[in-house]
Amino acid sequence: MATLAVGASLWGSTAIAADKGLVGIAMPTKSSARWITDGESMVERFKAAGYDTDLQYAEDDIPNQLAQIENMITKGVDVLVVAAIDGTTLTNALENAAAADIKVIAYDRLIRDSDAVSYYATFDNFKVGVQQASSIVDGMKKRFPDQHPWNVELFGGSPDDNNAYFFYNGAMSVLQPLIDSGDIVIPSGQMGMEKVGTLRWDGAVAQARMDNLLSANYTDKQVHGVLSPYDGLSIGILSSLKGVGYGSGDVQLPIVSGQDAEVQSIKSIIAGEQYSTIFKDTRALAQVTVGMVDALLSGSEPEINDTTTYDNGVKVVPSYLLEPIEVDASNWEQVVIGSGYYTMDQVK
Ligand code: BGC
Repeated sequence: MATLAVGASLWGSTAIAADKGLVGIAMPTKSSARWITDGESMVERFKAAGYDTDLQYAEDDIPNQLAQIENMITKGVDVLVVAAIDGTTLTNALENAAAADIKVIAYDRLIRDSDAVSYYATFDNFKVGVQQASSIVDGMKKRFPDQHPWNVELFGGSPDDNNAYFFYNGAMSVLQPLIDSGDIVIPSGQMGMEKVGTLRWDGAVAQARMDNLLSANYTDKQVHGVLSPYDGLSIGILSSLKGVGYGSGDVQLPIVSGQDAEVQSIKSIIAGEQYSTIFKDTRALAQVTVGMVDALLSGSEPEINDTTTYDNGVKVVPSYLLEPIEVDASNWEQVVIGSGYYTMDQVK
């Protein structure tokens, strides 16, 4: 249990007791800004709600994350909040947590193959994919109205992240009918997560794959759209495209999607390079998670809004899904500045 931090302000009344428990927060990596914001938002909100936190980042190294979680269990945390690097590798660690009566919340990414997961706080991941693909189609209509069919290439997220399949399937629910109707072709023929997945969401891997796609399939044609599931990949994909001359002279860049509204990608959208991203307000996700922990520890029922979608192989994990928002040149200011997520100085 945490120590007391009870104080009265000069003005008299604020008394915040940080004695409600200790929350272990295991995050995947600091290499992407969103996870840093997730961690900071949670620490701040847990503190305000009277909890102490132990926040750890594993730099995308699975044994590192396992060791961090084992340490948290040994330390006697009351709850574990985990954004898994590989959603399938935590089964044993979570058995130990269950044995110590520590409740587990899957944060953003579903933890698979374990019945020790109590709840899942995330965004509507299928909808993220739908929004990514819809924005590509809208963008191609605007930028390449007369060039039919459109040549599109697909990128998926990390195959060990359950979300990657939801993003991909959501996107294909929009793209497949257009492939079937002949409006879109995939010149490389590379489709399906086993072919288009990008291990650890690594931008350099995506850039290298885009280089290969371009040299093998586009010597005599132009690419019009690229489905990218994450801003870090989009930046790599755009570098590859610019490297062979897209975006200069009269060769227009293809429409490239993204996710997370990372600063570099908002800048790229403002510069007319990346077409869109998906904003997921991690402050809201942190807030939902704090609410779940509070309910769990006080013996009440956390608020959930989905009890059917997230089967982790052992059980359907009760979930709270937040709404993602598509962001492009037409609304970035209203969404990411208007919501206070970034200041204008950060993105200009
Ligand atoms: C998250 C995305 C993020 C990706 C890479 C996914 O699990 O849902 O927001 O872009 O991981 O970090």
